[in-house]
Amino acid sequence: MDYRNLIAGGWVATGAGTPNVNPSDISDILGHAAQAGATQLDGAIAAAHDAAPGWAVSTPQQRFDVLDFIGSELLARRDELGHLLAREEGKTLPEGIGEVARAGQIFKFFAGEALRQAGDILPSVRPGVGVEVTRSPVGVVGLITPWNFPIAIPAWKVAPALAHGNAVVLKPAELVPGCAHALAEIISRSGLPAGVFNLMLGRGSQLGPQLIADPRVNAISFTGSEPTGRGIAAECGARLKKVQLEMGGKNPMVVLDDADLDVAVEVCLNGAFFSTGQRCTASSRLIVTEGIHDRFVAALTKRMRALSVGHALEAGMQVGPVVDAHQLDQNQDYLRIARAEGGEVIGGERLARATEGFFMAPALVTDTTNDMRINREEVFGPVASVIRVADYDEALAVANDTEFGLSAGICTQSLKHATHFKANAQAGMVMVNLPTAGVDYHVPFGGTKGSSYGPREQGRHAAEFYTTVKTAYTGA
Ligand code: ADP
Repeated sequence: MDYRNLIAGGWVATGAGTPNVNPSDISDILGHAAQAGATQLDGAIAAAHDAAPGWAVSTPQQRFDVLDFIGSELLARRDELGHLLAREEGKTLPEGIGEVARAGQIFKFFAGEALRQAGDILPSVRPGVGVEVTRSPVGVVGLITPWNFPIAIPAWKVAPALAHGNAVVLKPAELVPGCAHALAEIISRSGLPAGVFNLMLGRGSQLGPQLIADPRVNAISFTGSEPTGRGIAAECGARLKKVQLEMGGKNPMVVLDDADLDVAVEVCLNGAFFSTGQRCTASSRLIVTEGIHDRFVAALTKRMRALSVGHALEAGMQVGPVVDAHQLDQNQDYLRIARAEGGEVIGGERLARATEGFFMAPALVTDTTNDMRINREEVFGPVASVIRVADYDEALAVANDTEFGLSAGICTQSLKHATHFKANAQAGMVMVNLPTAGVDYHVPFGGTKGSSYGPREQGRHAAEFYTTVKTAYTGA
């Protein structure tokens, strides 16, 4: 399979493409991906720029029909595309199918949003004057996405962009061209006018800066690592370009003495290790009060050790491979660092399986303190650490002592502590007796501090980024 770029409605190849490798089996090459250069990206931006005015005045019905078509096809093909996703990214097959279904639901939600483009009519403070507040499309939006949710994250950027009347250049992550290509192929048959959606496969370090610098691109939405995000914010700031960033997390999960132990273990197992821990909302710091600490660590260790790790497409697997060799090395480096800093590492071994892939056992690092690197920096793998604290007050202080602020959770049966935590956890999303990862698609997603920048994604709040507000006054 050759993954090509989509420019102005046409599929464009580029010489020899880069191989798309299955992380569960490196002998399995899914296909080859085009590598766009400056000229192709220029063409894609020009196409979006030319198509934007027409799509900006499209009717709500046209937008609904396009988004509904895409959502319906994703849902109908969830098994097939979920298989592709699991093969390409390494999520287990059920997780892959679930993610494709989620992408379909997101398009369906924004199909509805396209019909609900309401504004406000207000009386002016001056007699004889009327005021209208309406939303207009931003124009051309550049969407830069990561590899860990290869279809859901493009969906939750592309769907609101189109619903709110914008033209799109999508630059997906290099590791997952297959899912982006499959989505683009569906979009290309959806009835969307040519040029409104363009796909650019290639190196982010080359295409990203060009996309951001081009004056025809009005806004950038990015999900990825914090250093890249900070650089994008600076570049967009210098150009007064609208920007939305979703970056890392170092998400705390507090477990109090009064927690239901079974619930706490289940919540932490899921939050820390499912999707191979490769979620920006993963529970990477488990902050546990003294009275339950030893029982919790013993029970979680037992469950963690029993997780089945292996080929993402093999039935019964609960944890797939790490996405690539670089990420696997990085995970192992963090375990070495944690050991050197005094942590005790349980699990984390590299694993051999029938096929050659990037497998490692999930790891729990106990006896850690919040100042260790393992608790300051995002690992992005199946690794969680345990921090022992005296009581709720210390747990909250430790939970908030981080540069990040995406998701924060607490396991407790105390209404008082749950209520206090919801109000005082410094995070964009707070979970009570639920994993830090796993969110709904019809409500805002995003964080505080170093995790996010700019307006929230998803749900009705997505309009903040994908539209510009206009205030019109009419006199007598
Ligand atoms: P990760 O480490 O998770 O791959 P990155 O931040 O490197 O995170 O990548 C996220 C997305 O940003 C990818 O699509 C990647 O190609 C893109 N990207 C990488 N470097 C840049 C850059 N300098 N400017 C814009 N986008 C970039």
